[in-house]
Amino acid sequence: MTTSFNLKGKVAIVTGGNGGIGLGMAQGLADAGADIVVAARNAEKSTAAVASLGKRGVRAIAVACDVTDADSVAAMVAAAVKQFGRIDILVNNAGINIRNPVDTLSLADWHKVMDTNLTSAFLCCQAVYPEMKKAGGGKIINIGSMFSLFASSYAPAYGASKGGIVQLTKSIAIAWAPDNIQANAVLPGWIDTDLTRRGREQVPALNDNVLRRTPAKRWGTMDDMSGVAVFLASPPSDFVTGTAIPVDGGFSALG
Ligand code: NAP
Repeated sequence: MTTSFNLKGKVAIVTGGNGGIGLGMAQGLADAGADIVVAARNAEKSTAAVASLGKRGVRAIAVACDVTDADSVAAMVAAAVKQFGRIDILVNNAGINIRNPVDTLSLADWHKVMDTNLTSAFLCCQAVYPEMKKAGGGKIINIGSMFSLFASSYAPAYGASKGGIVQLTKSIAIAWAPDNIQANAVLPGWIDTDLTRRGREQVPALNDNVLRRTPAKRWGTMDDMSGVAVFLASPPSDFVTGTAIPVDGGFSALG
C-alpha cells in the first residue's frame, strides 16, 4: 500500500461496524492504520469486532449506539472524541430491511426503516460535522444499495431510504466541500451478510436469482467492501465527492 492510502493518525466511526459490510470496511480502514469506533447496539457482536480489529494493530473501541436516536448518536460521537480526540472518517452503514409491499407495509415499519437507514445518516453527519471542521476536513461514506438505482416492489421503504441516501450524500458533498469534507455513497451489490442470509430464508429464489443476474457469478464478501472504503477515506479521493460508486460484480452495469 502506498503512503497516500495511509490512514495512521485518523479516526473512523463505522455505524453497524460489528458485522457484515460495516466490519469489512472497518477492517480495511484498520489495515490502512485508522483507529476505529464501532457504533452499534449488539454488545456481544461489537466486543468481538473490536477484538478482531485490535489484532490488526490499531486502537478500536465499541460504543453502544442506536443510530435512530439523536441523543444516542450525540453521546456516541462525544465518547469517540473523548477517547481519540478527533474524528476524520464516518461510515454510515447501519441498516435494516423490512420486506412488505407498499399496500401492506405498516407506517411503523416505514418509519423504522427510514429512521435506521436514512435519518441515521443525517444525524451522524450533523453530529460529526464540528469535529471534522476542527480536524481541517473529513471523509463521509454513506452506504446505499442497488435499490438506490433499481425499484423493489417488496421493499418500498428500503428502496426509498437508499435512494434518499444518494441525494443526502450529494447535498452534504456540495454544502461541505468548502470545509474540505468529501461525502460519497457506496452502492453494494449482493453481499453475503446476516442481512442477506435472512433475505435468502424469506425469499428462497433469491440465491439463484443473484447468481444468475450478477455478471461476476458470485455473491460479494465483506472483504470486497474494504478497498473502496480505504480509497474514499484517504487523500487519493480528495477530488471525489458527491458520487455513488457501485461495488457489485457488474450487477448495475447489466441494466
Ligand atoms: P448486517 O450484517 O445485518 O449489518 C447491519 C448492521 O446495522 C449491524 O451491524 C447492526 O448492528 C446495525 N444496525 C441496525 N440497526 C441499528 C441501529 N438502530 N443502531 C445502530 N446500529 C444498527 O447487514 P449488512 O448487509 O452488512 O448491511 C450493512 C449495510 O449495507 C446496510 O445499510 C444495508 O442496507 C447495506 N447493504 C447491504 C447489502 C447486502 O447485500 N448485504 C447490499 C446493499 C446494501 P446492531 O444490530 O448491533 O445494532
